[in-house]
Amino acid sequence: MKLKNSTSRVSRKEELIYQIFRQKEGTALSVYDIEAAVNIDKQTMTIRTIYRVMDQLLSKRIIYCSTLKDGTRYFMLSNYYDIELTCHMCGWKSKTAASVKLQYPDNPLSSICVMGGKIDLLGVCQECSKLVG
Ligand SMILES: [Zn+2]
Repeated sequence: MKLKNSTSRVSRKEELIYQIFRQKEGTALSVYDIEAAVNIDKQTMTIRTIYRVMDQLLSKRIIYCSTLKDGTRYFMLSNYYDIELTCHMCGWKSKTAASVKLQYPDNPLSSICVMGGKIDLLGVCQECSKLVG
């Protein structure tokens, strides 16, 4: 997975940490979660290096601080949305997560810098679409 061209160049370490966020499917991760994930692959990165790389990802707005819990900051990928799909005919539901670049006509959300969130999509599931023809 390549980062978008709009993002400035990323180092190998930044790419590695970015991939960990991708693998965890939109969960909020602390520096310690990252450290545990990095050091599984026999690659070692000191906690100090991880902090530095996370700061770089923050300044490039690739990640953002989503929660502060017991003095630990948790980070998530920017523009990463939890998406819930619902069939309006049978009520089938499915969840997924995706990186989405949204555009807001007339900018109704100008009072907030949107970093992520939840999207509910309504439609007809594969089973029901057979009935509809
Ligand atoms: Zn259905």
